Amino acid sequence: MKVVLQNLTKTFPARGKKGETVTAVNDFTFEIPDGELIGLLGPSGCGKSTTLNLICGLQKPTGGKIFFGEDDVTDLPPEHRGVGLVFQNYALYPHLTVLQNILFPLENLKGKNKLSKDEMKRRAHEAAALVQIEGLMERRPSELSGGQQQRVAIARALVKMPRVLLLDEPLSNLDARLRLQTREEIRRIQKETGITTVFVTHDQEEAMSISDRIVVMKDGVIQQIDKPQTVYDDPTNLFVAKFLGTPPISVFSGEVRGGMLYIGENPVLPVGGVSDRPVTVGIRPEGFVPDEKGKLICDLKAVEVMGRDISIVSTHAAAQVPVIRSIVSADHRINTASPTVAFSLKPHKVFLFDRESEGRIPFTTV
Ligand code: ATP
Repeated sequence: MKVVLQNLTKTFPARGKKGETVTAVNDFTFEIPDGELIGLLGPSGCGKSTTLNLICGLQKPTGGKIFFGEDDVTDLPPEHRGVGLVFQNYALYPHLTVLQNILFPLENLKGKNKLSKDEMKRRAHEAAALVQIEGLMERRPSELSGGQQQRVAIARALVKMPRVLLLDEPLSNLDARLRLQTREEIRRIQKETGITTVFVTHDQEEAMSISDRIVVMKDGVIQQIDKPQTVYDDPTNLFVAKFLGTPPISVFSGEVRGGMLYIGENPVLPVGGVSDRPVTVGIRPEGFVPDEKGKLICDLKAVEVMGRDISIVSTHAAAQVPVIRSIVSADHRINTASPTVAFSLKPHKVFLFDRESEGRIPFTTV
């Protein structure tokens, strides 16, 4: 089932004398193709949960429309939209067993949707098998680990065979190892069922690893929608470039003169097709190449061995970040006794941005 958001807007009214109206979702237009998993990604308060609440019908938009397939569902109440919801806090009923928790949404079906007891049980066991908790059906939530509870919550969302699955930070309460395992599982289940899914997270690594496409948001405005790798390789503006990537991108003040990018006084990279102007420069950690003849000369602070790679920590007067982190193969020998380290740059890992608008400035490499 494809989901279409058309000029979707949600404005909350001002509260109190000094309150201001908040536009949590500002003119969203995008289509989620049938069977895709879309990651909604952005910092706290950017409007991710509000978007999800609009899609499931818990909140009404101020403007715009929502379609499931060809159906306009904008005014349809949540219970008639056929959505499955999973939240950060699993919200299981503590006094019910796992089986009873999963059965709960089916027992509430009315009229022509009502199911026989046998059919309900069959569906509950099918959903439990999908998330691999069949052995836990008689336990109560307090007798389960966090990861198991979250799987029960997912089974409960799947049991109604939703047209659309909405997951709001579903992994936040899990420890690092379980997060990884559960996110792989969510991806597997999503692929197996083919349910169109929206996954909300503020964790860029999580969004990148699980999504077919990601929507990067800031202050209620979509910044970029694309495949995760494309957003990483080709960010539309400085915000997106900074939001994606670990370690984060290093940012410098620079200047283009005569087709050459200068950081400080040094010419560091030829950049074709850019007029002379001050720029903001972003360099991905893997864009730095230790090179004695390199023109970007940084003050060496530390070399951290990470096994396959090493992380070089340095500083530079033109850097807008406290430290520059570059990741290079452990084959490189870095002279840790030297006060400086020189780098040449991989052109496709360097991005230029307008100083004012922070929009991307394209350049050609020679
Ligand atoms: P988080 O990651 O912290 O959950 P989010 O990206 O999900 O954040 P939202 O919860 O969608 O963000 O909130 C977006 C903006 O709308 C915020 O500025 C928030 O304060 C505001 N907002 C959300 N709900 C309401 C409400 N009921 N009334 C007024 N403002 C609200």
